[in-house]
Amino acid sequence: MPTCTSCNHILPPEAFIYKNKSYKTCAKCKTSRAKKKNSEKAADTNSEKASIEIITIDEISDYISNMLDGLEYDTALFSTFYIKLDKIILNAVGVDVRVMAKLIIDEIEEGDDFK
Ligand SMILES: [Zn+2]
Repeated sequence: MPTCTSCNHILPPEAFIYKNKSYKTCAKCKTSRAKKKNSEKAADTNSEKASIEIITIDEISDYISNMLDGLEYDTALFSTFYIKLDKIILNAVGVDVRVMAKLIIDEIEEGDDFK
């Protein structure tokens, strides 16, 4: 009797038939592999759905207030976003992280919802 190349079980030949084809891996292993593949695929699509938003600096205020709008008591706030930097901002900021942070804070403080 053949041995499964995956689980090393000695099984009757009919155990190696998967989707009408004969394999060196038993049908059980084939099935669990297919399942694993599918769940990996599903995880991929989920992460695609939870896509990271890219916003510009002047959208930060709106973005954050929208985010706060949906908040309920005792829930965790989770958000991921990238800030799109255009040439003007990049030139203004240079490599100084503090300038960048100040720019963001200024923009948030200018937002109507924070007055
Ligand atoms: Zn097997």
